[in-house]
Amino acid sequence: MITIENTLSLLKKHFGFASFRPNQEAVVTDILSGKDVIAIMPTGGGKSVCFQLPALMLPGTAIVISPLIALMKDQVDALRANGISASFFNSTQSPNVQNEVLQNLRNQKIKLLYVAPESLNFLLPHLNKNNVSLFAIDEAHCISAWGHDFRPAYTQLGKLKNTFPDIPVAAFTATADTATQDDIIKQLQIPRANKHLASFDRKNLFLEVRPGTNRLPQILQFLKNRQDESGIIYCLSRKSTETLAEKLKSKGYKAEAYHAGLETDDRTRIQDGFVNDHIPIIVATIAFGMGIDKSNVRWVIHYNMPKNIEGYYQEIGRSGRDGLPAQTLLFYSFADVIQLRQFIEESTTRDFQLAKLERMQQFAEALSCRRIALLNYFGEHISENCNNCDNCKTPPLFFDGTTLAQKVCSAIFRLNQQEPLGMVIDVLRGSKNAQVYDKGYQNIKTYGIAKDIPWLDLQQYIIQMINQGIFEIRFHENGRLLLTPLANKILFEGKKVKLASLQIKEKSAVKEYIQ
Ligand code: ADP
Ligand code: ZN
Repeated sequence: MITIENTLSLLKKHFGFASFRPNQEAVVTDILSGKDVIAIMPTGGGKSVCFQLPALMLPGTAIVISPLIALMKDQVDALRANGISASFFNSTQSPNVQNEVLQNLRNQKIKLLYVAPESLNFLLPHLNKNNVSLFAIDEAHCISAWGHDFRPAYTQLGKLKNTFPDIPVAAFTATADTATQDDIIKQLQIPRANKHLASFDRKNLFLEVRPGTNRLPQILQFLKNRQDESGIIYCLSRKSTETLAEKLKSKGYKAEAYHAGLETDDRTRIQDGFVNDHIPIIVATIAFGMGIDKSNVRWVIHYNMPKNIEGYYQEIGRSGRDGLPAQTLLFYSFADVIQLRQFIEESTTRDFQLAKLERMQQFAEALSCRRIALLNYFGEHISENCNNCDNCKTPPLFFDGTTLAQKVCSAIFRLNQQEPLGMVIDVLRGSKNAQVYDKGYQNIKTYGIAKDIPWLDLQQYIIQMINQGIFEIRFHENGRLLLTPLANKILFEGKKVKLASLQIKEKSAVKEYIQ
């Protein structure tokens, strides 16, 4: 009979762990009693044990769907090193090897069989309700177009439950917002799945966002007191990783660029250098970090804003794995948002991605505790301010921005709602540039009515207004700004607008890099 004492002693025996991590035991117990589960656990939370342990205890073979052929072999090797009979099945194997795997499957010699979703169809005819113990779907968010990593081959996994209604299906992911969680359950056809949501809170990570102006001096200031610490700077493009790494090198820092365009040898050298503390600073595209196990990364900087919160969370999560304090810093600029939007425009999942980008932008612009905003996104609700983010440490000052909002509204109105943000700001500030004069905008009534506000500040304020729903940006139409019904209320019905003052943050950022 299977009991809790049994699972614990097997955990010790096979994996050498003295106790379960949060949620592991509950997931194991569910699977053992034949239930479907979805487990959302942060990276490093210990998902593997959740299906590996039941795989050992149940008769038959556990089929593990895993998207990364490269990691499959490592996992199988690690299991075998623990004396567990595991194999993988994928397209890189010769037919001979594949046949051998199938024969071992028939003879019940394998407890865990890892398979790429693309190879599942070859395997299915060899599976039946007597030789399969469970289906574990790793990186289950790949099934959902709502996920950030959609893999078409995952969509066929819905047929598993259909074909084998009595075999438990266990879905695992580290990155799923609530919409994606629901979509995974729907697509895997496991409506009665028990949901296990481990905490995503990484209390030791300081969360900070700064305006993306003067990034290099800010980074240099940031690095000044962190000479021996390891950290990662994420950039959007390969080119900018190289430029930034060069600049840091010229200032005497040991920094290397890393991106998917490098030769394999270089990539290995740089990764190893980072892991072994020879190269403290890596300037990378998001290609860097997957599968790198380094516990003492002390900081992560986002030179550019990631395109969604999942990516952001995963990337900042590479710091502070040892539980000691770590710093994360995100630079946020409207130019980045525009660029990300352009990438997304060409994508087949455009609408999903735009919605996710908007959530990311809202997070970057949050004026209250960032941890609350971040965890909310993953469906985890905390009510206390974290006291370990920029907004908790220096809460923004609010001021009555009604008059300013009215000025902006009327400028947009007088520009016939045809002009993008930049032109609206130029007109409000009474700019004398050629585009303004060519169109005769120097003659309209609102020209120059906000000339006392610096350009970038005015831009930030208008973005706050956009986020409050006062204007809308038509990205397909030259980025022109449109008034919404809320704008009418502000103009004509005395509706008030609260804006966060930018002064405090900008001053502290400026102060820090002047020092
Ligand atoms: P995930 O797949 O969720 O990212 P892993 O399954 O790779 O996480 O586990 C992350 C690390 O935690 C591994 O090094 C693993 O050995 C370790 N680990 C997992 N479960 C336990 C446990 N109960 N006690 C101690 N360490 C554990
Ligand atoms: Zn906070």
